[in-house]
This record gives sequence, C-alpha cells and structure tokens, in this order.
Amino acid sequence: MFADRAKIFIKSGKGGDGHVSFRREKYVPDGGPDGGDGGHGGSIIFEVDEALNTLTDYRHKRKYVAESGAEGGKKNCHGKNGEDLVLKVPAGTVIKDAETDKVIADMSGDNKRIVLLRGGRGGKGNQHYATPTMQAPKYAQPGQPALELEVKLELKVIADVGLVGFPNVGKSTFLSRVTNAKPKIANYHFTTLSPNLGVVDMPEAKGFVIADIPGLIEGASEGIGLGHEFLRHIERTKVMIHIVDGASVEGRDPVADIKAIRKELEAYDPEILNKPQVIAANKMDAVYGDTNEIIETLKAEFEHLGIKVFPISAVSGQGVKELLFHVSGLLETLPREVVVFEPEYDVDEELMDTDTEPFTVIYDEEEDEYVVEGPRIERMLGYTNIDSEKGFLFFQNFLKDQGILEQLEELGIEEGDTVRLYGLSFEYYK
Ligand code: GDP
Ligand code: MG
Repeated sequence: MFADRAKIFIKSGKGGDGHVSFRREKYVPDGGPDGGDGGHGGSIIFEVDEALNTLTDYRHKRKYVAESGAEGGKKNCHGKNGEDLVLKVPAGTVIKDAETDKVIADMSGDNKRIVLLRGGRGGKGNQHYATPTMQAPKYAQPGQPALELEVKLELKVIADVGLVGFPNVGKSTFLSRVTNAKPKIANYHFTTLSPNLGVVDMPEAKGFVIADIPGLIEGASEGIGLGHEFLRHIERTKVMIHIVDGASVEGRDPVADIKAIRKELEAYDPEILNKPQVIAANKMDAVYGDTNEIIETLKAEFEHLGIKVFPISAVSGQGVKELLFHVSGLLETLPREVVVFEPEYDVDEELMDTDTEPFTVIYDEEEDEYVVEGPRIERMLGYTNIDSEKGFLFFQNFLKDQGILEQLEELGIEEGDTVRLYGLSFEYYK
C-alpha cells in the first residue's frame, strides 16, 4: 500500500481543575481562599515538515493525545500546563473530518502550522471567587473538557504537471529521463502504486515538478481498482501530459486510449478537462512504417481542442526537449501558487458551540420525574461545579436562559416536583 492517506484519532488535553483551599497561617484562624488555577491542556498542532513526503508514520500509530493540564494547588499554585502535541506532516496534506469528509485544513502554500484542537482552558481556583458576601468560597471552576476528533489525512501531490496514460506506455521511462526521479520501469502491468515525483531542470526555461500518476484505467472514476486514489492526485496538477504508445507496441490504439482517459477524468470531475493538456506520442523509435500517420491522426483528433501533439521517444530522448519547452511555456501562463483548499469545517464551531447542540425536556410518567437531557446540557455540566453555591446559581441561570424552565412549566411542572439531569436530581422551586 502507498502511504498517502491515513485516519487518526486526535484529542487535546483537558484543562486542569481550579483548586479549593484556604490559607493557613499562624495566628490567622480563617485564612482567605488560596486555591490556584488549573493548567491549560495541551493542543493538537499540525506542522509542515519539508523533509517528509509520505504519511507512513500515521499508518502505524493512530492515536494522538495531548497532555492534560494539572489541577491547581494550594498557595495559589498554578497547575502545570499540558504539553502541546505537534504532528509533523508533509506539505500538501489535507486534514478532513473523518465523518463528514469536510476539509478542516489544507497544509499547503502558506499554511505551515495550525492549532487544530485547542487544549481545554484551566479552571480558576477559588481565590478568584471571594466576594464581600462570600469570604470563603468553596467553588473552583473545573477545567474545560478536551476536544476529540477523528480525522483523515490525505496527501495530495503538489506537482505542476501530471503524467497520465495506460500502463506500459512509458510514463516511468519518461519521468526517469527528464527528472532526477528513479521510478521502477517494467514491462508488465503492475505499475508503480504511488505517484512518483521528479523535478525537471531546464537551463533555458523555468523548471517544474512532474508526477507520474499511475494506475489510471478504465472504470477508475467508478472506483474500480485503485482508480480513485490516483484521480485525487490529478486534481492539483496544472497541466496534464497524456502519454500514449505511438508505436502500438502492445496493440493499443492511442486515440482510443486518450478518449478513454479523458472520459474517466470527466466522470470524476469535469473541471479537470479544463486544465491545459498535451499529448506525448511515445515510442517513436519503435514505429515501423509511417510515423507521420499516427501523429497526423492524433493531431486531427485533438489539436482542435487546444491539445498539442508531440512525437517523442522516452528511450532515445527524441522530441523530449520540445515537449518540455512547450509545457514550461504553458506553466508560465498559469498562476504560480499552489491551489489551496478552503476549509469547510470549523473545529471551534463544530465541537465547542453549545448553541447548536440540542436538548430535550420530557416528563417521565413512570418515575414521575421531569428529565432534561442532550449534549448541550451534558457539556454545560462539564463546565460547571454544581455542588457549589455559585455553580448552582450559574446553572439555574443557564436553564432559564435556554428556555428550559419555560418548557418545564409548559409540561405542567409544579413546585416540589423532581427534575433529573444526567444522574443529578433536584427539586423544582420557582
Ligand atoms: P509505464 O507503465 O507507463 O510507467 O511504462 P514504463 O515506463 O514502465 O515502460 C513500459 C515499457 O515500455 C518498458 O519496457 C520500456 O522500456 C518501454 N518504453 C518506454 N518508453 C519507450 C520508448 O520511447 N521507446 C521504446 N521502444 N520503448 C519504450
Ligand atoms: Mg510506471
């Protein structure tokens, strides 16, 4: 398998709880509150490492949890902050929410570092809660909960040019001829499974990066074989070189091949066909008879679509320079910067915005109790220390603000009735 995608579980650190304690000093019977704040939880951070070019590491280890913040201590001691966890990825890694497949971040272009899951804030110690009427607060704020998410990492090839074509037409040979890449060249149909990248250096024109995108076969757009895996790589290249076997060494028809591949590309994403394309009619050295006939046929079929045809031989090098020069020229007319995908998934909004999380208020006849539940309530309870006076007051206000008290009234609740929330029961009073 090639390591250009991985699915991992990430979790930030929980914030440390605030501490409840009181000063103990000689001759001072009741010291003031001195509970320290909890430490912040560590964040999950993604960072581009230029030295990496695969996601192999993430296929072996799949769980990444940042350190939690420590609880605050006595004597206003601040809890230790949790360490951030920095995950290094190759440039061009797209991070997606595994469930919805939406893009969270694209580590391309200027995006070199992103805090993906923020660590939970540490809770405030009871030293912050002293008021004129409450000199000895027993309340401290709990730390914010951790955030967790399953994400997909997908490495998209960032190449200027993609080589496409059926197996054995000479893609790998071409790549090794024009770049520093050393792909496997073989006369059998199990082609290289991961895209090979190479840099084309040209003395008299601007160089570029080429990717050999293997495995394009009929049915690829329907996900046959490994088709989809490879089509994803083409999305980002700016120019496509169709390589065909101009000598029909294996009896292939170059025109039919290009049509079949264009059909697959179109079925996958019609936009792809708008990219500039070039045809390299390869293996010209092996053509018996009239070379021009094949070239003329290709020209007649495709040049009116703006696709130029170049007769080449990847083995002898014939025609290769002209082709590269033309491609370099095409690239000059296109924007230089890489395509960066816009985020579609806002972690803060999805994971932290309690307003979008529902709750239900029902009457449980059997138990003769009112039941309030839902993620919003649960999350709220995670933030609040309900055992303390202040926390309880805060919670009551929350129930009121959310319209929960109103809903209880509508269900016919009366003073003294029991309300149940996640294992907590309390009596209802106006
Ligand atoms: P790929 O599957 O498209 O990557 O094709 P390869 O580069 O592995 O080449 C398949 C076969 O075609 C190998 O045996 C190559 O030596 C041969 N081949 C590639 N380019 C040329 C060429 O320009 N002329 C000739 N005669 N053979 C070639
Ligand atoms: Mg190959």
